[in-house]
Amino acid sequence: MTSASSVIPPSDEFLTAPLRATIDLQALADNWRAMAKRSGKARAGAVVKADGYGIGIEDAGQTLYNAGARDFFVALPSEGATLRTYAPDARIFVLSGIWDGMEPFFFDHDLVPVIASEEQLAFWMRAVSEHGDHPCALHVDTGFNRLGLSLDDALFLASDVSRPASFSPVLILSHLACSDDPTSAMNRKQLESFQQVSAAFDGIESSLSASAGTFLGPDYHFDLTRPGIALYGGEAVIGQPNPMRPVVTAEARILQIREAKAGETVSYGATCQLARDSRLAVASVGYADGYLRNLSGHGTALRETGLPGAHGFIAGHRVPVAGRITMDMTIFDVTDLPEKDVAVGDYIELFGPNMPIDDVARAAGTIGYEMLTGLGLRYERHYLEAE
Ligand SMILES: *Cc1c(COP(=O)(O)O)cnc(C)c1O
Repeated sequence: MTSASSVIPPSDEFLTAPLRATIDLQALADNWRAMAKRSGKARAGAVVKADGYGIGIEDAGQTLYNAGARDFFVALPSEGATLRTYAPDARIFVLSGIWDGMEPFFFDHDLVPVIASEEQLAFWMRAVSEHGDHPCALHVDTGFNRLGLSLDDALFLASDVSRPASFSPVLILSHLACSDDPTSAMNRKQLESFQQVSAAFDGIESSLSASAGTFLGPDYHFDLTRPGIALYGGEAVIGQPNPMRPVVTAEARILQIREAKAGETVSYGATCQLARDSRLAVASVGYADGYLRNLSGHGTALRETGLPGAHGFIAGHRVPVAGRITMDMTIFDVTDLPEKDVAVGDYIELFGPNMPIDDVARAAGTIGYEMLTGLGLRYERHYLEAE
């Protein structure tokens, strides 16, 4: 690790753990500041749903709050309640919205529901006319077809003089479908629709862009950006160098090193037949740890597409996964390494500064988001504190 800002030394458990993750909160804070800068005149919010993209919502929330974030987005109300302790006076938006009966929870934890349908809107109007003013946000669909009021309904609402005075949205938002591809015509189409809604709700702040949208430039920034993946070091824009600092380093210990002869096979299904005498390192990580079975070197349908399996990193080398990944263990082919460079007890980096998480994700036909949020519970964690 290069950014040794940690003041708390790693625990003995961490130093000996079969499977461990280092979480660099300084990098997280730096990534937020970088996204705040990229957001230009807009404020940068912070998305911390799914346990802060797997790194832990408590640590993520506190670090981002200390770095200056005051607008947080979570998916579920329970995530908002957890975050509230770490972000005392921040605005916490709940992207999934609100159901009948949940009002006390939102009021108690001071959460802002993101109203995303006509049903939620009608229910919320009733709730605030009884309870009195409480902020909400409005999600308007501009082409994603996941959540949101239709464009027409939103424009009608903006001009509806009969809406109760206690109904006071503080943010109008929409979500881009293709912002990871700057050449997609969908971006401008959604932008133009959103500009209409944003203008109709004159005087109310608006927000269109997640991480990737923020990279599309000032037109896409509005008042508030909503970066998630970029904060955690993931790749937002496909096919461009990733400017963010990695936040998570995942490492698995080598349990055993085996010599195997040419012609022998490796792991379930005997799908990997060795072409040469080989040295195999058995590491303590499996698909139960989010090291997806589709990362296997052989024996999954994905390999038939010609896409290579995943690599780990050890002693300056990339080493390929051999055969199928099992629930708790993965076998790496270390034959090409000098024998003295790899020993039982050493750690193989699964992803981190030397092995970009998105490169690993691609080998499984997926994205860094899925790798991060799938980290699982068995990693011993060490947090490098932010200054
Ligand atoms: C998840 C999410 C984000 C953050 O997206 P990233 O691509 O991780 O930056 C922003 N807005 C909404 C509505 C989301 O669901």
